[in-house]
Order: sequence, then C-alpha cells, then structure tokens
Amino acid sequence: MELSYILNELGEDRELYYNAVAPPILQTSNFACKTVDDMRRMLQNEAESYLYTRGNNPTVTMLEQKLAALEGAEHAIAFGSGIAAVSAAVLSQLNAGDHVVCIEKPYGWTNVLMKRFLPRFGVEVTMVDGTDTENYRRAIRPNTKLLYMESPNSFTFELQDIAVITALAKQHGCSTIIDNSFASPLYQNPIQFGVDLVVHSCTKYIGGHSDTMGGIICGSREMINRIFEREYMTLGAILAPHDAWLLLRGLRTLPVRMERVAASTRKVVAWLEKHPKVDRIYYPFSPSHPQYELAKRQMKSNTGQFTIALRTDDIRKIDNFCNSLQHFLMAASWGGHESLIYPAAAYYSNGTHKGKLDFNLVRFYIGLEDPDYLIKDIEQALVAI
Ligand SMILES: *Cc1c(COP(=O)(O)O)cnc(C)c1O
Repeated sequence: MELSYILNELGEDRELYYNAVAPPILQTSNFACKTVDDMRRMLQNEAESYLYTRGNNPTVTMLEQKLAALEGAEHAIAFGSGIAAVSAAVLSQLNAGDHVVCIEKPYGWTNVLMKRFLPRFGVEVTMVDGTDTENYRRAIRPNTKLLYMESPNSFTFELQDIAVITALAKQHGCSTIIDNSFASPLYQNPIQFGVDLVVHSCTKYIGGHSDTMGGIICGSREMINRIFEREYMTLGAILAPHDAWLLLRGLRTLPVRMERVAASTRKVVAWLEKHPKVDRIYYPFSPSHPQYELAKRQMKSNTGQFTIALRTDDIRKIDNFCNSLQHFLMAASWGGHESLIYPAAAYYSNGTHKGKLDFNLVRFYIGLEDPDYLIKDIEQALVAI
C-alpha cells in the first residue's frame, strides 16, 4: 500500500460525513441498535462492531487502520497512552508461572512493569543486554513465553537484532513484542522481521505536536481481537475520540516532519562529534557506532534522538550546561515540534542517585527548528563545561 494512500485516504469514507475533508470526531459513548437481532449480532462480535466507545469508535478505527497499514500489520488497537499499550500487550501473552526475557534499560515504566508489577502476579522476568543475541538465548527457560524488545532502547539507544531474536523465539515457542516508538512506523517495521506485536507511544512522533497522548498495538487480527476481548475491555485504557482525531491530524504530516527531524539531527550530530567537550555520542547512525551496520539493516533512517556524554567529572558543570540552553526545553518525551534535552543528572541529588545512567549523559531530541539555530545554542551552552 502506498504511503500517500494510507495517510490521505485509507479508512476515510467522506460520503458518510457530508464530504468533509477532515474526519469527524464521533464524540459519543453509545451507539443505538434498531432491533434485538442487531444487538445480538454486535454482542457476538463486539471486536468488529460499534456498540460502546470503550470498545470501538469510528474516529479511533480510522487511526487504527492507518497505523496497522503503516506497520504492515493486519490489525491494530489504540490506547490512551503508550504505556497502556505496552502493558496490555505484555499482559496478553502471560499467565502466572510464565517467564519473560526483556532487554535491560527499557523505557522507565516498562522497567517498572517488568521488575515490580509482573512478579506480583507470579511472572518471572530476566533482563538482558540485548546487543548480544546470545544473552537472550541463554536466558530462555522451559517456561519462557515472551521475548520483549525495544530497539533502539531508551536513553543509550542500544539495538537488538530483531530478525535473529524473533527466529529464536519461534524456535522456542515464545511470542515477541517490540516497542518501536524510537523509529516511528516510517523508519522501522518489525513485522517484516516476524515480530508478533509492535507497540508505539503515539504521544511521540505520530502525534508530533506535544498536545496529546496515545498508544497502539499492531499485529495479526487474531492476536489483536484477543487483546480487545481481554485486556482492552477490562482495563479500559481507551483512546478518546478527540485524541484519535489529533493523532490523525499528526499523521498527515508525519513524513515531512520525520525527514526534517532526521536531516537536522544529522547536522547537529556531525557538529557535536567534532567538539572536544563531547566525550561520546550514543547515536546508532554514526559510522563509528558498534551497531551501525545493524542500524542500517533494520532501520530506514536515523530519527531525532541521541545522547551525549560530556567531558567532565563535575555534576555542577552539567547542570550549568543544561540550564544555559536558551532554545532547547528541558522535558520528558520527544517527537514534537520542539527540541528537548533530558539530563541524567536529574536522577542525582546530593550525591545519591537512582538508576544506572552516568550523570554526564544528556539526551537530546532535535525538533523542527533550524538546525543552525540549535547548534548556536549548544555552542554557547558548552562554554559551561
Ligand atoms: C514515551 C515512551 C513510552 C510511553 O508512552 P506514553 O505515551 O508516555 O505512555 C513507551 N516507550 C517508549 C520507548 C517511550 O519513549
């Protein structure tokens, strides 16, 4: 299916709504039935019916159809946040007594789900360094049911070899889930490597304007409908129609935003790589990165995130550098119009810290601003180091 068709036409039936170009927000909780027989049919197949908005809603369906197509999946189901989608996907594959192998250092709340939440329900989790596929292989036990990936993962952007880990899962009868938020559905499509469920935080690139939240799971119709009937309907973490509408609006410009972000990031990274105060850059699309070849094989392009290690042992200098930036906002998240930094130093206070990240790491996200404007800002702030 062509990208332009997916983003501009797929799932949109304008004759149903006065030929309006923008889709309507179906702001309703309920859909009425004409006859008992209609209601009977809907109850028998609620996953494919419009009965109640905690199940399906037409504005949300439009988004689901487009995202499924972008990932090359049969079907998709939308949630109110990325972590709701991650949690529902993970829970859908597990029962008490099962075991999961997960990459170490995933997104923070995925880490909490794996380390603190699942063990409460009798699920064991082993976290492994995913840069070496052998670590996944060695961690597999007879009761392993799920191999969980996030490639590249959060903050330091290590990759996993998706095709090899997926083949390993198939050998051992395990399912696979990947958090694909980093790459966006344009620059990496894990279903082509055999992954069962692909998850995104739509809050990031898909929304693209830092004004709404959402999540999506893409996969086979059978797996998605099973999630609908169990985790989706019972946990109730639905995407509101208005938020689906904002995400649809974001999708229209996804390719142009991604191209701009990727090109600007290449320019900023090239500048930083030559700077003496930058000790190291965590950026898979650098030819010097140990996983450069894998990055080029799995991903179509770089995106806007990278992390720098600044050359100093003094945390106060890191604070000064971050506080001196005039045009980068200091915030969580990424994928919007605005450039951001996220300092690992924020995890440290009075000499104590939580987490495994060194305090001299600063994560960057390059937004839609002029890259030279951003470079000038970094240049003046680096005086602090
Ligand atoms: C932000 C993020 C999430 C969580 O998404 P929310 O929409 O904030 O719930 C999950 N995974 C990754 C990789 C993220 O960056």
